[in-house]
Amino acid sequence: MFASHRPRVFRSRLGCCICGAKSSSSRFTSSSKYELLFSGCFQLNEKRQGEICNACVLLVKRWKKLPPGSSKNWKHVVDSKANCEKMYETKKKFKDFERR
Ligand SMILES: [Zn+2]
Repeated sequence: MFASHRPRVFRSRLGCCICGAKSSSSRFTSSSKYELLFSGCFQLNEKRQGEICNACVLLVKRWKKLPPGSSKNWKHVVDSKANCEKMYETKKKFKDFERR
């Protein structure tokens, strides 16, 4: 039985500089290797650096393999997880407030 097996969770203090995820089932890596590709892959206008989660690394790698002239990008991924975590925290605060 493997029911008790839980996947390991990696955490990043600042979160992924692309999607904002602070925890992931895979390791966070330094974004320095990928920063030059961010503006194309994620349509970023500003420079972002720090740690990047494995999911975003895979997106960058996928973007690199796109045929020339493809307009596909992963713009919608930017800050998608950060907003989720913020919403979760607001809900938590709201609950604490209700309890008083
Ligand atoms: Zn990410």
